Amino acid sequence: MIDPKARNHPSGKPPVRDARGRGALSADAADLGRLEAELLQKNALLESLLENVDACIYTKDRARRYTYANAKMAAIVGREPQELLGRTDDELVAPEVAANWRVLDDRVFTTGSTQSGEQISTAPDGEIRHFWVVQIPQRDRGGEIVSLLGIATDFTQFYKLKEELARQATTDELTGVRNRRSLLETARQEFTRALRYQHPLSVLMLDIDHFKDINDSHGHDVGDQVLRAVADACRRELRDSDVLGRLGGEEFGVVLPNTRHEGALAVAERLRARIEALRVGDGIAPKVSIGVACMEGANGIEDVLKRADQALYAAKAAGRNRVSLAAKPA
Ligand code: GH3
Ligand code: MG
Ligand code: MG
Repeated sequence: MIDPKARNHPSGKPPVRDARGRGALSADAADLGRLEAELLQKNALLESLLENVDACIYTKDRARRYTYANAKMAAIVGREPQELLGRTDDELVAPEVAANWRVLDDRVFTTGSTQSGEQISTAPDGEIRHFWVVQIPQRDRGGEIVSLLGIATDFTQFYKLKEELARQATTDELTGVRNRRSLLETARQEFTRALRYQHPLSVLMLDIDHFKDINDSHGHDVGDQVLRAVADACRRELRDSDVLGRLGGEEFGVVLPNTRHEGALAVAERLRARIEALRVGDGIAPKVSIGVACMEGANGIEDVLKRADQALYAAKAAGRNRVSLAAKPA
């Protein structure tokens, strides 16, 4: 049955009455009220989300000025959120950090699509933090990009873990020098570079003499101590551009970029003498034999390593505690 009162109302809906029966609001006004309440509720939800989510959230206009920043974003630059409004990164952070952040901003505005990447920031105490940043272009009704929305999550802990895993994967745990895989990989890269630029390159292969006797008479722990002392002595003697690694057991390899055989022989002799002068534990004096080979005429790094190995065994056969140079390939 049609409510007779409804017929007179322009919307065709009956006027709404409050609990006491007082007719006050039209149905449209009631809808608006409900919408407003819903909007307020959604706003409160959004605000609560923006302030409690574990991410920096912000918007920037085309001039790269902040138009919104949550508390986490503001904390990154050591400010209150309202202090960011109208400011650009150049006014808020160190020039190198601002330049780093600018790259992704520019990509969003030039490509018009969502962009993501790694960014860094420097905390007030100087610590570098790492963020994964997603930036989404925001368009007006006409489709023009007017701003970007950024979401940055701090993944410093994972970054450090990743770095540590990468370090562990390339480092010999006992001595701290490169492990076999890393040494061979770097040797290969250095060989390719030397070929390309027509630079010389030499390789040393070094093996501790009678190491088994050291282990047998002093124990494995003292043997380990000797290995560390030999690695340290090499590290101190070599230049930063030289590449040192443990090939396995009591055998080490050194790649000497930009070094001809005369230079390599001199480095090897200095290493041998320095190691001979070491005293480990209760006076153990380790000695080493060293094979030297240079890349001249070699087809690949494997060739050079093989000749260095042959020279090392020639040094062993000739009485140990000496340096031997590999013959050039025919
Ligand atoms: P040479 O003069 O001919 O080189 O004789 P050597 O005794 O040094 O050589 P050999 O290959 O007979 O012995 C090497 C020893 O190194 C045997 C092995 O148990 C020991 N070794 C290998 N890795 C390690 C390690 O990480 N720590 C210790 N302490 N010993 C190791
Ligand atoms: Mg040995
Ligand atoms: Mg050996």
